[in-house]
Amino acid sequence: SEHHFSDFDKLEVLGHGNGGIVYKVCHRPTAALYALKVLHAGDPQSRRHAAREVEILRRAADHPSVVHCCGVLPAPSGDVAVLLELMDSGCLDSLLRRRRGRPIPDRALSGIARQALLGLSYLHSLQVVHRDIKPSNLLINTAGEVKIADFGVGKIVRRALDKCVSYVGTCAYMSPERFDPATHGGAGYDGYAGDVWGLGLTIMELGMGRFPLLPAGERPDWAALMWAICFGEPPAIPDSDEASPELRDFVSRCLQKEAEKRWTVAQLLEHPFVAGKDRSSSELAVRELLLDSVCDSS
Ligand code: ATP
Ligand code: MG
Repeated sequence: SEHHFSDFDKLEVLGHGNGGIVYKVCHRPTAALYALKVLHAGDPQSRRHAAREVEILRRAADHPSVVHCCGVLPAPSGDVAVLLELMDSGCLDSLLRRRRGRPIPDRALSGIARQALLGLSYLHSLQVVHRDIKPSNLLINTAGEVKIADFGVGKIVRRALDKCVSYVGTCAYMSPERFDPATHGGAGYDGYAGDVWGLGLTIMELGMGRFPLLPAGERPDWAALMWAICFGEPPAIPDSDEASPELRDFVSRCLQKEAEKRWTVAQLLEHPFVAGKDRSSSELAVRELLLDSVCDSS
């Protein structure tokens, strides 16, 4: 690529996770702003992880609802730096925190859901399974665009029926068949339905203003959470919460415990909660949400 690591000034840290640190950077020769994700690649295992993330980004980052990869640069001490389009309004997780638990209203939520579904539809058409759909991996910008990010645990499905089940991703958003393939229709597990589960739980969280599967304020009990996902009733918005019938139904189609009963991305795009919207009205609804979410931080 024509970019050189030394041409970028680090302005601030946008986030860090298992994969590496993400900086807001300025490309000095052009004054253009980007996000730069520096992936550790010092040892063979992290080198494999970094290579997979880069492979998926190269294959899949050409869609308006997937964060665009603008280049991959060698970084000091053998690390890999991935240059990404800057999503200047951050992730949906931080947006929810800025709203201090105020649920996201339907109009904006359906715009978010629709754009995320378009991104997933594109990824799944390329046989890419994301495997880590959650609020902190959905990014927004001031144009009102919502994009899928973070292919740190993504997977390219090489065979039609790939039976490989592996335990990666954040377990809080993991589907029943990921935990327990034998009893939840995981025999033909290919992972696509797992992305739908993650999206359903994400939309549910945004619509309720809190993560639905753990009691607020308590230290998470991961074993109890995993038990509830596998053996409890499917997650549903409680009757005591205000939520439209369309939102309740959308979430329930995503959160069917049997992977085969769960709706596919194509089916969900026709659901009344998201259907019949064009891209620009989805983006407008998200821009209104951003305006409505700055007030709380003061
Ligand atoms: P985790 O392990 O927590 O999932 P990660 O190390 O895999 O994280 P990312 O999810 O790619 O890394 O990025 C971490 C955070 O950095 C995101 O949640 C987001 O807040 C921020 N971030 C990542 N990419 C961008 C971008 N292109 N524009 C703006 N912010 C970004
Ligand atoms: Mg992430």
